[in-house]
Amino acid sequence: MSANCIFCKIIKGDIPSMKVFESDKTLAFLDINPLSYGHTLIIPKHHGAKLTDIPDEHLTELLPVASRIAKAVGTENFNILQNNGRIAHQLVDHVHVHMIPKPSEEEGMGINWPMK
Ligand code: C5P
Repeated sequence: MSANCIFCKIIKGDIPSMKVFESDKTLAFLDINPLSYGHTLIIPKHHGAKLTDIPDEHLTELLPVASRIAKAVGTENFNILQNNGRIAHQLVDHVHVHMIPKPSEEEGMGINWPMK
């Protein structure tokens, strides 16, 4: 944990969030400024600014949770994004994976949302 990190405060519950998944090493919550319906951030609870700062064992759930979110939203259309460093548009210095659903008209929106 880092005292001044906004995502560590979300993990601790000091800042409220819309949680969609939580385990002992991973948290997923809705982005406060979503690019699409269900835009979710998936983060390791282990604090580190960059992907290269995080031990491998704290990274193992990130893509599986993204996959579960895609199924919960009910779409096969989505983007996975992970920014590192200011030049690469990272704003929050706690590793996070963006899961950005892009459902087609046929798929509709959020049939199985929120994730159980
Ligand atoms: O990858 P990057 O660092 O640019 O993205 C940070 C993301 O964190 C933004 O999409 C922003 O909306 C989100 N955010 C959030 N809750 C906060 C602060 C930032 O969902 N309290």
